[in-house]
Amino acid sequence: MVGRAVPDAMWAAVLEGPGQRLQIERIRVPRPGPGEVLVKVAACGICHTDLHVIRGEVAFPTPAVIGHEVAGRVVEVGPGVDRVREGERVVASFIMPCGSCPACRRGRDDLCERFFRLNRLQGVLYDGATRLFREDGRPLAMYSMGGMAEYCVIPAHGVFALPESIPWRDAAIVGCAVFTGYGAVRRAADLRPGCQVAVVAAGGVGSVIVQLSRAFGAAAVIAVDVREDKLQAARRLGATATVNARQEDPVAAVRQMTHGAGVDVAFEVLGRAETFAQALSMVADGGRLVAVGIAPGDTAASVPITHVVRRGISIVGSYGARAGVDMPTILTLLAAGFIQPGAVVSEVVGLDAVPDAYERLAAGDITGRAVAVFES
Ligand SMILES: [Zn+2]
Ligand SMILES: [Zn+2]
Repeated sequence: MVGRAVPDAMWAAVLEGPGQRLQIERIRVPRPGPGEVLVKVAACGICHTDLHVIRGEVAFPTPAVIGHEVAGRVVEVGPGVDRVREGERVVASFIMPCGSCPACRRGRDDLCERFFRLNRLQGVLYDGATRLFREDGRPLAMYSMGGMAEYCVIPAHGVFALPESIPWRDAAIVGCAVFTGYGAVRRAADLRPGCQVAVVAAGGVGSVIVQLSRAFGAAAVIAVDVREDKLQAARRLGATATVNARQEDPVAAVRQMTHGAGVDVAFEVLGRAETFAQALSMVADGGRLVAVGIAPGDTAASVPITHVVRRGISIVGSYGARAGVDMPTILTLLAAGFIQPGAVVSEVVGLDAVPDAYERLAAGDITGRAVAVFES
């Protein structure tokens, strides 16, 4: 694999403009600059956040290549990279830290200033340029690394050696769903053994939060969703109780299960005003609402001020995790079996079926997580 020839062109999932269907298009293979690596993508997760971009609910420049949950093999390293070697299996965090801004230097690479300003707003890497071009030379924006493609360039601070025991299929959701779930449980919730939690929305990230809450010693994990198949899956992953919010009032049900007290931590994983308010109402006095779900840009939820003040409730936002310190721990937990991403992955598709998979995700027809796998 060292010295493996890299072709000039590749297939990629291109978003021409907001609201359009993805197109599988032939584009140029990118080249890594200083401090970057070229990865041959083996698997890439099909995530709701891409869907927000596809629908135009999150502002992002187009045309663009989406895909931000990548696992694959390093095939080329740019100058100055010593973290990984050619031929190494890696997984990438969707937050690709620059490694040198003030936030990165103080260990808060989840707030990397260059990532948010240059990649999330402009679709470029940290020299202000994209690495992706159409065959005629026109540029394509990169959502994170633009990973729904055969190859992608990733800043080296965003890649982590992947243990041989973890298959590509499972590794595909580590860089976003597992990373996000870990940040919520370990960082934002600071979960303590014996506590009680509620997880509102049991999709990909919610399923990971269920597993991690148990791994961190939660005594009760109540999964809330409107779909019975998702609730059954949550039970298999360790939820101690489930609430179908279509059949009963979820706040009353969670209160009843906790003898009126409410939960120490409620995770809101959907990003809707209604579920945000519900999750807040499930929190016990002195407890914490951890907001994980991303909403369309202008969404707001109302918060009962006196309730929050009088009852000492914390509201904490959580976006991803701290790549530099958390990804190695996450990979250790995976290798030890504390997190089983394979149990969340419900469907595997090839690149040709990716546009269709996003449409089914939009329709709510994917339980758990779909991933695209290009290499077995
Ligand atoms: Zn994602
Ligand atoms: Zn940074």
